[in-house]
Amino acid sequence: MVCFCFLVDQTRKVRWSKPAAGLCSRCGCGASVADMKTSTRFCLVPFYWRTWRAVICTFCGSILRSYR
Ligand SMILES: [Zn+2]
Repeated sequence: MVCFCFLVDQTRKVRWSKPAAGLCSRCGCGASVADMKTSTRFCLVPFYWRTWRAVICTFCGSILRSYR
């Protein structure tokens, strides 16, 4: 049970994105609307994933807003 947390990891990928109005609050660069895909893996085998839409910064990658 101790090593459980080392076997689970989560990856986040941008499947699609398009420029959006707005600026990043962290670096001031342009924002984009993106379709994100988050997959959770257990021992490197994906067992759960979901897609969601968010407004992200194209430069630093921070999530400015998310739509669930
Ligand atoms: Zn930024």
